[in-house]
Amino acid sequence: MIDIDAVRSDFPILNKEVHGKPLVYLDNAATTHKPGVVLDKIIGFYTESYSNIHRGVHYLSDKASAAYEDARETVRDFINAGSAKEVIFTRGTTEAVNLVADSFGREFIKKGDEIIISEMEHHSNIVPWQLLCQRTGAVLKVILFEDDGSIRMDRLKKGITKKTKLISMVYVSNSLGVVNNVKEVIDIAKEHDIPVMIDGAQAVQHMPIDVRDIGCDFFAFSGHKIYADTGIGVLYGKEKWLDAMPPYQTGGGMIANVNFDKTTYAGLPYKFEAGTGNIVGAVSLATAVEYLQRIGMSNIDAYEHDLIDYAEERIAAVEGVTIYGKNIDRCAAISFNMKDIHHFDAGSILDKMGIAIRTGMHCTEPIMKHYGISGTIRASFALYNTKDEIDRLIEGLHKVKSMLNP
Ligand code: PMP
Repeated sequence: MIDIDAVRSDFPILNKEVHGKPLVYLDNAATTHKPGVVLDKIIGFYTESYSNIHRGVHYLSDKASAAYEDARETVRDFINAGSAKEVIFTRGTTEAVNLVADSFGREFIKKGDEIIISEMEHHSNIVPWQLLCQRTGAVLKVILFEDDGSIRMDRLKKGITKKTKLISMVYVSNSLGVVNNVKEVIDIAKEHDIPVMIDGAQAVQHMPIDVRDIGCDFFAFSGHKIYADTGIGVLYGKEKWLDAMPPYQTGGGMIANVNFDKTTYAGLPYKFEAGTGNIVGAVSLATAVEYLQRIGMSNIDAYEHDLIDYAEERIAAVEGVTIYGKNIDRCAAISFNMKDIHHFDAGSILDKMGIAIRTGMHCTEPIMKHYGISGTIRASFALYNTKDEIDRLIEGLHKVKSMLNP
């Protein structure tokens, strides 16, 4: 059970008025707001513990280094990685995918190899693989999804060949909110010894995640979508892969010894953390994770499921609405359009009512092409949203209709 009043009071921005109306924030797939504990931690860390990490002998450097490594351990525990060596801090999901595409790509991908993704990927899980394929002469294969938002496993099985070297797939679509059966994908991949990367950017904040139980080889997520600061994220990778992969970026912090004739690299995870990382971001991420752990990810999962079921039912009942990716296990988001109304116009009117939703392609242009549309209205949810807010959204949709489609 979630004490929703207590949760809401943890997020100072939720008291804000927008255009004279109480804020209804339904743009959580883009980014989430921050609880007071995270905001306090950021200020507290800068005022009490801040210094650069891993390089100093002085008190503050020690303190900051310990906090950074404690943060790594908190994340390890949160996703149940086997070792903190398998937790690499990145700028976010985008950088995590780029890291794997670049580094795994340089070691393991050659001309004629195949990489599989799905048609519902975020651009950040498409473009890095395209570039890798351009560079190496490998082939990018795309598994299409069905109109209901599901990915058929027989299509995946058909797509796999002896040349398939990696599958990278989104866990929860940021556009459609559909939850992919990544465990089944991984089971199929394992039969062929193919490693699997999971884009967990829209999963970790909504459901318990256990990377060892899922069985993925790589898993990426972003701090700012899980109630922490921007500019911090995580790449989980199995040690056997990370060990075998060359450094991604180079510079300070990732080396063992530097000589002009030969440089050797630091061990994991530092080999992949060149330069000064987002120290305070990592600490904010750990604070956000501990906050969620206190509430309980299973409680959050149950609360949000109830909320999104309610939202789907109410949105579907508005005459003229088309919901994309229906009747599938869903979390995070609902995308829809209203008959004869441009999504952008709907979004602008809702904004004037204090309701923040997102319109457009949501960095998933292929999904829009699939449905032959230019964009959607997307309502996306967090643990602090309520059914009353969904009722406000529905009121807003009726107002949009009466204004634009009388
Ligand atoms: N994948 C998915 C599914 C996403 O929703 C997002 C962010 N919208 C990303 C990747 C990229 O995340 P970031 O911009 O934080 O790197």
